[in-house]
Amino acid sequence: MRLRVEWIALAVCASLSALVALGGNGYQQQIVFSTALFVVLAYGWNVISGLTGYLSFGQIAFFGLGAYVAVGAILVLKLPWYAAAVVAPLAAVCVAIPLGSVMLRLQGVFFTLGMFGLGRIGDIVASSVSGGAMGTSIPEVATPRESASVMIVLALGAIVFTHLLINSKLGLRFMAIRDDEPAARAAGVPTGRIKVTAFAISAALAALCGVMYVWNVGYLDPTSAFSGTTELQVVLMVLVGGIGSMWGPLFGAVLIALLGQVLWARFPLEEQVILGSITVLMAVAMPGGISAILQARGKLTRRAVWSPPPDARSIDVPTRIRTVADGDPVLVCEALVKRFGGVAAVDGVDLRIARGEVVGIIGPNGAGKSTLFDLITGFAAPSAGRVLFANVPIGRQTPDAIARRGIARTFQTSRLFATLSVWETVLLAASSVNAARGAAIAEARRILAQVGLLDVWSRLPEALPPGKQRLLEIARALALRPDVLLLDEAMAGMTADEIAQVHAALRFAVGNGCAVVAIEHVLPAIATIADRVYVLDFGTVIAEGPPQRVFSDPIVLDAYIGVGTSVLDEVAAGAR
Ligand code: ADP
Ligand code: MG
Repeated sequence: MRLRVEWIALAVCASLSALVALGGNGYQQQIVFSTALFVVLAYGWNVISGLTGYLSFGQIAFFGLGAYVAVGAILVLKLPWYAAAVVAPLAAVCVAIPLGSVMLRLQGVFFTLGMFGLGRIGDIVASSVSGGAMGTSIPEVATPRESASVMIVLALGAIVFTHLLINSKLGLRFMAIRDDEPAARAAGVPTGRIKVTAFAISAALAALCGVMYVWNVGYLDPTSAFSGTTELQVVLMVLVGGIGSMWGPLFGAVLIALLGQVLWARFPLEEQVILGSITVLMAVAMPGGISAILQARGKLTRRAVWSPPPDARSIDVPTRIRTVADGDPVLVCEALVKRFGGVAAVDGVDLRIARGEVVGIIGPNGAGKSTLFDLITGFAAPSAGRVLFANVPIGRQTPDAIARRGIARTFQTSRLFATLSVWETVLLAASSVNAARGAAIAEARRILAQVGLLDVWSRLPEALPPGKQRLLEIARALALRPDVLLLDEAMAGMTADEIAQVHAALRFAVGNGCAVVAIEHVLPAIATIADRVYVLDFGTVIAEGPPQRVFSDPIVLDAYIGVGTSVLDEVAAGAR
């Protein structure tokens, strides 16, 4: 593998820093230490806020926690500092798992505010426990040379770790959650667990920095352990460098840390004001940070995870074990009801879908079709009634668990991942149901070839025409190798060629026993391949049967009056 220029540059910078750490004076060594410390803090913050998209203003709480655990470990347990450097991140992980499970239910600004409060709480608790704002000293203190050297190694570790993370299944899942959390769930990503993992990694890195801080200064007080200024600095560094990117945290941390040193030396009083102003200006002038500017020029662009797709023509993909016998219903809805306030969007719907069946669901706008899909896939909880999959009630399973078990869906309004390539989008879903990397890759490649998206595998969704974007959503659903595939107006806006491609892919899936349920609002593009059709109106099934019979049913014609009977003519034409 060719070593890319950024890694060579990194090695050079690290070597220079190491020379300073080993041979410089105490002041220079401190600058190296604090810069490297900020690099690790920035990469830690980037995991939860950049890669996973949960903006936290409270990661400093874990820095403080790590610092206090280190002091406790050194003073009370008489551990050496390096043992504290293991214990403190572990403690942070133990706190982060339950805490994250609660906090990460909060969305957007509520999570941000909640985390901000946590940092403040840490300060207050530490003050009261350790006896006021007074600090504590520890006996074992690093020489500037020691702490700077160790910190450089840790910073390099954080960079390499992030590189590995961004190129892993876990990193792909983080980015999918950041881009569109419901879509990630529909692709089978256990978002709850994955978000907590990101939170815990982030916390561990912050705690490690807390330990290093204590070891470096040999002293700890609540204000510096839970410093809001440090938190803000880290956030600004990542924003300036490029949030969510591989190299942004490094650029931002080094730039702002060194700039801060220069400003502090020359304008000690105005340093914060100048730094703040520069940051505001940079945020306005270049929203994506330094990384975005470089990426716009084609530099440092992220390589797709587990890419390129393999070449192999015929790939052996294990087929899913049959969940039900032929002829048995794979999906059953019993008297399903969903009320929104006083409105019953779905009002007692019974549905029976057999293995390998293709079923159309039609009905006027607002008939409750999409809500029905939300109920089946766990995105909404029924007010009454139940859904059975392979004869087992799905109960209150999460949407991602339902997706992994075998009910895949698309959304009426497009939900794609803005920063994931075509390949990664399909791979994400394939890796939810294939534990082995090779199997996931093979499955993703096969599906892309099948729907005709292989030649655009490296593109981002925005670079695709609308029809191909819809095709990609279908491909993502198919990659779960579902027993039931729910399509919500998936073929609206597609060209005839694209529809033919979808039909071919559906026939293949149906051949493997997958049942397809397709909502079509205007022209039921599914009519030509549908075995049966359900007609929904005001949340109830008003007709059901083979397309020809349903489309000549007077009740159905009645429901469509006002929508335009030409629609039905088209349907009937399609069915013939
Ligand atoms: P369709 O997909 O058949 O066009 P929907 O299932 O989207 O219909 O909507 C059915 C009815 O439920 C509509 O009247 C809609 O306004 C209402 N509805 C759907 N989702 C919600 C919601 N989250 N809150 C309140 N009302 C909703
Ligand atoms: Mg709808």
